Amino acid sequence: MIAYPPEPWRIKMVEPIRATTRAYRERALRAAGWNPCLLRSEDVYVDLFTDSGTNAMSDRQWSALMRGDEAYAGARSFYVFEEAVRAHYGYPHVIPVHQGRGGENILSRCLIRPGTHVPGNMYFPSTRAHQELNGATFHDVIIDEAHDPVSEHPFKGNVDLDKLRAVLDACGPANIPYVSVAATVNMAGGQPISVANLTEVCELAHHHGIPVFLDTARAVENAWFVKQREPGWARRSVAEILLALCAPTDGAVMSAKKDSFANIGGWIALRDAELAEQARGLVLLFEGLHTYGGMAGRDMEAIAQGIAESVEESMIAARVAQLEYLGRRLRDAGVPVLRPIGGHCVCIDAAATLAHLPRDQFPGQTLAAAVYVDAGIRGVERGAVSAGRDPLTGRNRFPALELLRLAVPRRVYTRSHIDHVADSVIGVHDHRDAIARGLTFTHEPPHLRFFQARFAPVAGASIFAE
Ligand SMILES: *Cc1c(COP(=O)(O)O)cnc(C)c1O
Repeated sequence: MIAYPPEPWRIKMVEPIRATTRAYRERALRAAGWNPCLLRSEDVYVDLFTDSGTNAMSDRQWSALMRGDEAYAGARSFYVFEEAVRAHYGYPHVIPVHQGRGGENILSRCLIRPGTHVPGNMYFPSTRAHQELNGATFHDVIIDEAHDPVSEHPFKGNVDLDKLRAVLDACGPANIPYVSVAATVNMAGGQPISVANLTEVCELAHHHGIPVFLDTARAVENAWFVKQREPGWARRSVAEILLALCAPTDGAVMSAKKDSFANIGGWIALRDAELAEQARGLVLLFEGLHTYGGMAGRDMEAIAQGIAESVEESMIAARVAQLEYLGRRLRDAGVPVLRPIGGHCVCIDAAATLAHLPRDQFPGQTLAAAVYVDAGIRGVERGAVSAGRDPLTGRNRFPALELLRLAVPRRVYTRSHIDHVADSVIGVHDHRDAIARGLTFTHEPPHLRFFQARFAPVAGASIFAE
């Protein structure tokens, strides 16, 4: 028996979803260029495309919406939001943005000059895209274990300090505007960084006068793993650990669409007053006034309430347990899932599952297509399609991990949905030989190509054996 503790909430409102036939889904996916991202959500039964902005808000968040102060300048809701971020993340300067990438744009523009270098613990597509757009080269300094789907390392988000030192030596500290650290690491499958490692990274960077900025999108989930796995932290609350993770860093960029149970929103949080002033100046140009940053007053109220709920131990425990349940069910049935199970997603090793397909036929994308056709479940490729092309050589990047990611929205699906997903994925895995061929691009956008790309089977009309 795999544990599935009862959720610390009950359902007050429902949203109907629709089952379709296999023939219907294959037609829908072909019309979407074999890219589940281009499907209409009505045609999806269980949507595990992302946990971003897809969360169910609580009754308290919905009632907080009614308190939204929609004043253009100095809205009361901004001060509620600012206070919640300060109290839970510990940074004095809080600047709202419409979502995480808005903050990435501003921070990259403030700090990056062409020809500089940004080290980070694996990449995130939008984070790296903004760094590259501003002329920096990204250097992955995550530990090797993060690239190994079967390693059971408890902190696969950790930075390899030797790799970071090597980048410092090769590029020179003056050419490194900041170190970019994520907690947890999305592309590694939601894997955490330890407080000890993050503290060491900050000490090394600060020694060279380089600031460290944290991607806090899932820092609460990271804090939960620290409590479970890092010696010395078991008795501390998740709220305390969250503050401890942020404490050594110089600032953070946040997508409130993740941990904070919101459907939209984000912030930049900083310690340095001068940098904050510079960032506010750019927020005015790109996001909105510095007291709303592209959000409505009501969004800021819902986020403030969501932040408080996010650190409730029962809430985060149930969240991670649901992921663990899905991962364990798949693993027990022989599906090669990335280990350990992450905080927001279960990732299937698509290169191992579809070992008969070459990497340039995009096994991750192909497996995503097959899983959708099987039972209307939408996941997303996290492999070569997501990694894009090298901006210098123009060649496809083939990262070590070629995954199908099933990201679970917070407080949305019940155990029977999760069982439906497990049954379907196990069936697709058992009959993987029926997937005869992979996919090739018919349309390839230049940035974040996975969102809008279109594909066709490399031969014939379908990826399945005729
Ligand atoms: C989602 C995400 C972002 C970008 O945030 P958006 O709100 O989608 O713009 C940045 N970093 C990580 C790790 C994320 O998961």
